[in-house]
Amino acid sequence: MKERRVRVRFAPSPTGPLHMGGVRTALYNYLFAKKHNGDFLLRIEDTDQTRYVSGAEEYIVDALNWCQMSIDEGASVGGENGPYRQSERKPMYKQYADQLIESGSAYYAFDTPEELTEMRERMKAAGVSSPQYNAITRSGMKNSLTLPAEEVQRRLLANEKHVIRIKMPRNEDVKFEDIIRGWVSVNTNNIDDKVLFKSDGMPTYHLANVVDDYLMNISHVIRGEEWLPSAPLHVLLYQSLGWAEQMPQFAHLPLILKPDGNGKLSKRDGDRLGFPVFPTNWTNPETGEESSGYRERGYYPEAFNNMLAFLGWNPGTTQELFSMQELVEAFSLDRVGKAGAKFDFDKTNWFNQQYLRMQSGEQLAPQLKPFLASAQLEAEDSYIAQVCELMKERATFVQDILKEGRYFFEAPTSYDEKTIKKKWKEQTPEVIKELRDLLAALPSFDAESIGACFKAFLEAKGLGFGAVMPGFRVSVTGLGAGASMNDIAALLGKEEVLNRIDIALKTIKK
Ligand code: GLU
Repeated sequence: MKERRVRVRFAPSPTGPLHMGGVRTALYNYLFAKKHNGDFLLRIEDTDQTRYVSGAEEYIVDALNWCQMSIDEGASVGGENGPYRQSERKPMYKQYADQLIESGSAYYAFDTPEELTEMRERMKAAGVSSPQYNAITRSGMKNSLTLPAEEVQRRLLANEKHVIRIKMPRNEDVKFEDIIRGWVSVNTNNIDDKVLFKSDGMPTYHLANVVDDYLMNISHVIRGEEWLPSAPLHVLLYQSLGWAEQMPQFAHLPLILKPDGNGKLSKRDGDRLGFPVFPTNWTNPETGEESSGYRERGYYPEAFNNMLAFLGWNPGTTQELFSMQELVEAFSLDRVGKAGAKFDFDKTNWFNQQYLRMQSGEQLAPQLKPFLASAQLEAEDSYIAQVCELMKERATFVQDILKEGRYFFEAPTSYDEKTIKKKWKEQTPEVIKELRDLLAALPSFDAESIGACFKAFLEAKGLGFGAVMPGFRVSVTGLGAGASMNDIAALLGKEEVLNRIDIALKTIKK
């Protein structure tokens, strides 16, 4: 049999910003597609117009772009199987609902909201905890299975409000093999007669999703676990529409769990524990509420992707750092687990640190420049690059280099009080002055010479490291700790270092 071309889709509903879990779904789809030289589609599922949020689609496209997932076909880029926005596909769905009616797999239902409520209340009173419109209750309702054919025709011709429901078969086991979960079997007695087509002329998610996956020739449906309960209905729809042969394979991804305790990771966990749950900043257009995103917090998309990839998948080796290309090569759905994956924010920071360290000072310098500019600081590119090279080991975000190393760009305006209190002794000014004069005499002001000079000074004076270094450091940087003073001094240059010591000796008062 000819191998089917791999075509997968990410199918978000534009009801708000994309949660991290959604980005992970997109990523797994993307990795799977690229691994198999297939296509990655973006389909916007906006059949529920009441939940539509303006700006959400643009947000989704922007977030996927930031995460470097290029879209082969989709709402933002077009393609042969478009349109890729379900609202624009509206005229396509009705014929399939009609086909289901004709074959007896679906029926018209004319019940008013009041009648539906009445039915539920009646069932509840009879002891049914979650009443459903199903094989048992449908016989007491107003639908094309209970009303005479002429009345159904009359109601339809009169344009009476109605929906189309699936006629769920009684007591049948629907089985399918999920790539991640293995065989799944659900008895139809547990599924209700879901609405497929609404009174507003729009299909529901279920019908539109199946029709589009079929028309777009989707080979694999990779989506979150929350859709697993819908899968048996989708399988039945494929069968009823005569598309069983073309049915995609399903893979339902595990949940992303909160870092503490159990349960699905939510925006509230992020607010509570101080981390973003969205890839990029989002402003709610209705309330104006702002939510922070990984991008604006200074995370690299590579680090974000790498972290997300590990939430549910593992490569089976000890390797943790993967470029997108390496992820594509290593990824397989076989190595995605069933169990929920706990989100670990520290690990996210660790990934960012690693991606920062991988870059050279020259690569980091242009990233630091905007932060310098907003602090009204400036320096030559090559100098900034050297500062970045020296400081990158201490940073998680590029802006940390400025936070930790502001003294590279301006002389200290204050001196760390704790250091002064503990280490600035009576004789310190004299010792530092002597060190200053030795440094001033150095013919070459490189880190090695400064180190050697410092060491010789300690030996000659019979002083310990702790008696001189803190005073030296606080004079030059204003701080009590940091990178190697030899490197710092060499980078600042002789004139600057001597100047700073002179000012410190005048300023620091015990
Ligand atoms: N529109 C659904 C969602 O918002 C898509 C689910 C699926 O992939 O089938 O997640």
